[in-house]
Amino acid sequence: MLTRQILFGLFAALLLAALPSTAKAQDKLPVVATFSILGDLVSNVGGDRVAVKSLVGANGDAHVYSPSPADARTLADAKLIVTNGLGFEGWLTRLVKSSNSKARNVVASKGVKPRKLAGKHAHDHGHGPSDGDPHAWQSVANAKTYVANIRDGLIAADPAGKAVYEANAAAYLDKLEALDREIRETIAKIPPERRRIITTHDAFGYFSDAYGVEFVAPQGVSTESEASARDVARIITQIKKQKIPAVFLENISNPRLLKQIADETGAKVGGTLYSDALTDEKGPAPTYIDLIRHNIRTLSAALQS
Ligand code: ZN
Repeated sequence: MLTRQILFGLFAALLLAALPSTAKAQDKLPVVATFSILGDLVSNVGGDRVAVKSLVGANGDAHVYSPSPADARTLADAKLIVTNGLGFEGWLTRLVKSSNSKARNVVASKGVKPRKLAGKHAHDHGHGPSDGDPHAWQSVANAKTYVANIRDGLIAADPAGKAVYEANAAAYLDKLEALDREIRETIAKIPPERRRIITTHDAFGYFSDAYGVEFVAPQGVSTESEASARDVARIITQIKKQKIPAVFLENISNPRLLKQIADETGAKVGGTLYSDALTDEKGPAPTYIDLIRHNIRTLSAALQS
C-alpha cells in the first residue's frame, strides 16, 4: 500500500516536471528588481516573458535592508537588474560585486528630475547630500519614466521580445495616465486649506510637488535615523498652529511615534499610507496602481471631513 503511494507520488512528480508550463518557466528572462514596487512595474512590462524577483519584498524597508547569501545567488542567476537609483539602495553595490553578477543594470529613475532636499534633511539622511530624495515613484509622471527605462532595458537584454515589451509598456502607460488623472480629480475635491498631512518618514515629496498636498514628517527621507525629540516637538507645534487635520501611518514604519503625535495634538490618525513597499496579495496595495489608489482614497477620506 505504502509502496503504491510512493510510486504514485513519483509518477505525479515526473508528470509535473514534464508539463510544458514548467519547461517554459526556465526559458523566461530572469530579472531582479531591488524592491517590490519596481518588481511590479517590471512584471507589467515583461509579462509572460520574464520571471521577476524582488530583493526587498512586500512591506519591507529598502532603506535599512541587509542582503542575504540567497540574494547574491539570485543576482548571479539574473540577466537584468532593475534598480531605483538616487541613492536608495546603498547596500546594492557590494552585493552585486560579491555575487559576480554579469547582468545588465537598468536605473529606473534615469531622466527623472531629482528632488533636492531643503533644510536639515539635506545633510542628515545618511547617504550624503548629493543623493537627494529617492522616492521618485510617488509621482505617476516619474513612474512613466521608470516604465520607459524598464522597457528599454528589457529590450536590450532580450531583443526577441521587443514587440511584446513595447505593447505591454504602451498598455501600462495608458493605465498610468488614467491613474494620474484620477489623483488630480480626487485631490481637487479636498478643500485647499486641508491639503496638509503628517507622515512618519519624508517619502511623499514627489507626490507633494506633483499634486499639491503638503506632507510634513518627523523623520528624514531615510528611515535609517530616528526622529529627534526636537523634530517631534517642532511637528507638534506645527500641527497645532496650522490645524493639520490628520496624521498617517506607513506600512514600513513603527506606528508608535505617529500615534504619540496624534494623542498630543488631537489630530486624527487618517489610516496607513504605502510609501516604499507594496503589501502582499491580501493587503490593500499588492500593485503600484493599487498602492497609489489606496493612498489617494485614504487621504481624501481623512481630509474631506
Ligand atoms: Zn523611504
